[in-house]
Amino acid sequence: MLTVAARQRQRQTGGLELLQVLGGVAAGPNRPEVMDRPTLERVMTTLERLPFETLDLTGGAPELNPGFRDLVRHARALGLRVLDRCNLTVLAEPGQEDLADFLAAQGCALIASLPCYRADNFDAQRGRGVFDASLTGLRRLNALGYGAPGGGLLLDLIYNPQGSELPPSQTALEADYRRVLLAEHGIRFNRLLTLANLPIGRFGSALLSTGDFHGYLDRLRAAHRMENLAAVMCRELISVDWQGWLYDCDFNQQLGLPLAAHAGRAHLRDLPGLILEGAPIAVADHCYVCTAGQGSSCGGALIGNRSGAA
Ligand code: SF4
Repeated sequence: MLTVAARQRQRQTGGLELLQVLGGVAAGPNRPEVMDRPTLERVMTTLERLPFETLDLTGGAPELNPGFRDLVRHARALGLRVLDRCNLTVLAEPGQEDLADFLAAQGCALIASLPCYRADNFDAQRGRGVFDASLTGLRRLNALGYGAPGGGLLLDLIYNPQGSELPPSQTALEADYRRVLLAEHGIRFNRLLTLANLPIGRFGSALLSTGDFHGYLDRLRAAHRMENLAAVMCRELISVDWQGWLYDCDFNQQLGLPLAAHAGRAHLRDLPGLILEGAPIAVADHCYVCTAGQGSSCGGALIGNRSGAA
């Protein structure tokens, strides 16, 4: 599975920063949404022709796409920064024993989900044993130099609430994560990124089953802060799904809302001809996930964190 996102520097200036790619955002090793070789090669061509600065690779497990390493090498050879949104357990998959070494050798920045630093909470969300497996992956990455203060190999962790509350202060929670993971597990990381939950998929179903769906949206809307609008991720990235279709962000990809800058669905092949400067962005109620409280994006909180994850 492979979904790509490449970040645009700022649509207002027409520069391109990030292309986010590699499979569908809901993809995983056991799902059918796998970016095929022709689409992957179109991504490579796009990176050659357009001035993207960052390639953001996501999906359930983008590393399992047979073309993952070719794409990473290609992007790095072009001088792009590569972000791999890694689920950690993939590092122990059969046949992926050298994956961590590859990522380090390529200088990929890693962003890994770690929804809690306590095993019981973590496993309640992800399944029994996943916490220990994730720590094993983190130790492997630390041993390669990932997460070292001031080091060149960036390792960021992602926290998202287990319920329908907004994330707590990113700064305060990062301090807790840093203290507990180091003291109890000897693990280092660079930054903790807090993300609010998008009310779709399993979380959306849970909200519907508890009758809190509209209440959650109301809480997000009530917590909206205008200052977050300057840093929402759709201002600087284009999201690409496993078939090459374009979206304003990966949230919109999950909702099937196509890129607003094009009449009808836009594909990677349309991208060179698109005028993105000043183009509209497809927005709806789910956008309050990004603008509520301290803000939330693929790079964590927005207020006080304008540089994002990249
Ligand atoms: S969900 Fe809405 S506000 Fe957030 S990045 Fe996507 S389009 Fe922008």
